[in-house]
Amino acid sequence: MTSGRALARTGWGALAALWAVYAAATAQIGLGVADGPLRAVPAERLADALVIASAAICLARPLRRGPGRLAWLLLGIGLAAWAAGDLYYALAFDETEIPPLPSLSDGLWLSFYPLSGAALILLARNQFSRVHPTLLVDGAIAALTVSAACIGALWDPVLSAPAGGATALGTLLAFPLGDAMLLGLVAAVFTLSGWRPDRTWSLLGAGLAAAAIADGMLIYLSATSDLVDGTALDALFPAGALLLAFAAWQPAQEPVPVDIERWGMLLTPGVCAVIATAMLVFDHFFALPTGVILLAAATIAMILVRAGFTFRENLHLLARRRTEAITDHLTGLANRREFDDRLTAEVERARRHGRDLSLVILDLDHFKDINDVHGHAAGDAVLIRVAGELSRRARLGELVARVGGEEFAWLLPEADAAEAVRAAERARRAIALAPGPDGIAVTLSAGVCALGEEGDAAALYRHADAALYRAKSLGRDRVVGREGAEMATA
Ligand code: GH3
Ligand code: MG
Ligand code: MG
Repeated sequence: MTSGRALARTGWGALAALWAVYAAATAQIGLGVADGPLRAVPAERLADALVIASAAICLARPLRRGPGRLAWLLLGIGLAAWAAGDLYYALAFDETEIPPLPSLSDGLWLSFYPLSGAALILLARNQFSRVHPTLLVDGAIAALTVSAACIGALWDPVLSAPAGGATALGTLLAFPLGDAMLLGLVAAVFTLSGWRPDRTWSLLGAGLAAAAIADGMLIYLSATSDLVDGTALDALFPAGALLLAFAAWQPAQEPVPVDIERWGMLLTPGVCAVIATAMLVFDHFFALPTGVILLAAATIAMILVRAGFTFRENLHLLARRRTEAITDHLTGLANRREFDDRLTAEVERARRHGRDLSLVILDLDHFKDINDVHGHAAGDAVLIRVAGELSRRARLGELVARVGGEEFAWLLPEADAAEAVRAAERARRAIALAPGPDGIAVTLSAGVCALGEEGDAAALYRHADAALYRAKSLGRDRVVGREGAEMATA
């Protein structure tokens, strides 16, 4: 295992060294140093060999098990097509002053784009099986902006290239379009990973960017000068291929989930909005290609979609937080906060309209013992069962809330003391007579109070609580009204 790793490291080192020799040789040719120390280096053959090696290394990757084998196979075939294009170009047009456009080489080179595009999509699908929709929209925004920028940068040089004929022009245009597509995909994946791509994606991005820059510069230079081939920038092509092959052999990394609740989430749409707007403004002074304007407009439309998504999410979040704020999370009943608000509102309403209003406070008996004997989880289950029983008995307009650990409050508008006592008594009996599926028997005590002429919410609660206290001291498992008369016992 270790020796295998050492061998691999030596192999990569050798390839990097070969590339460095090649880069130095092209630099020397580019600088026009005819009799430099590297004149004996067959630079172009070396470049071809490096791309062939990259294709072979990538094609070997599916032999090893693991996810993404089809993706690496496709990328490997893409690199092989690239290498075949180079070889055919070298063999067929060695003696030709101006090679034809398009030629078989262009077909082979261009087939790299759909193959590697499919590979990128497969890899991304493996890695991000579940992505937040906002991130997907952000990915689309980034892809549109990068595509607009690439096309904006490369369109003019392509159009002014001495290509001759619509087919030739179309062939030349296909290269920057392909580069824009791939870099757009990479930008989308970088966005999905919160701009913290793993090593595989960093290398893929670097490799594709190197090839795109080399493409762009080649087209630009061949349009603006009479250069046919051979600049130092040529070294970027095999560098790109090697980086892609290196990416294929990176150990798989678990994607780190992106935290979408942070200011950084504004980065992608923010930066893309600035770039797209800048393009539209720039176009006012110096006309940009129509494709760039359409992509910039699509970017801004996508940013609006993103704003819609975010707004909808915030509404959902707000609704959820609002419910959580007034709900007891164990039993699902209203919590103390909601109960206090409703109590104040109901007292106010009852007084205004001269209507009845009663309050029952219920407390489980010796609940501490249940926890001690059966455990806290069993205690929780009892609380949930009692909460269910009480809320089933509450009628429309009444409210049952959990106001303490094992203490419940039941607010009954339109009910006088006698009615409230009867309701509480029925609930007490039902709960005492029906132990839960766990077999734990529980009883409860309740204090009842009706709103008097002079009373307010605080007084109503105090009197009901005092009645509960009396029920406890009288022996528990009973309902006691305000006057202290014991209404019912077990
Ligand atoms: P009494 O009959 O006098 O009301 O006795 P009690 O044991 O019911 O009363 P006490 O106030 O001494 O104890 C209440 C217990 O309720 C103590 C606490 O551990 C338990 N409790 C409070 N909240 C929860 C909860 O959410 N889950 C569980 N399982 N127990 C809780
Ligand atoms: Mg208790
Ligand atoms: Mg209590």
